[in-house]
Amino acid sequence: MGPYLVIAFFFGLSAGVIGRIKGSSFFIWFLIGFALPVLGTLAALLYRWERRELRRRCEECGNVVAMSDQVCNRCGRDLEFPNEVLAPRRA
Ligand SMILES: [Zn+2]
Repeated sequence: MGPYLVIAFFFGLSAGVIGRIKGSSFFIWFLIGFALPVLGTLAALLYRWERRELRRRCEECGNVVAMSDQVCNRCGRDLEFPNEVLAPRRA
């Protein structure tokens, strides 16, 4: 194996592990990371937690919103970093 393949392999591995942690397929992300070193790993990092996204409660109205939301979708309050993180909703 040439050095490029070794590097691509490790990027594939990192993308696969990150994808797996986020509830996606290790194999698919491994292939993406292997085909696109650096970019594939970045894509895995930026990939949204679809079903298992952490949630939090709005301090103003008690509405439960996704962790990635900046504004409450019920009362419109700007959400700061939460002191309490809710477990992901069961699929
Ligand atoms: Zn609210």
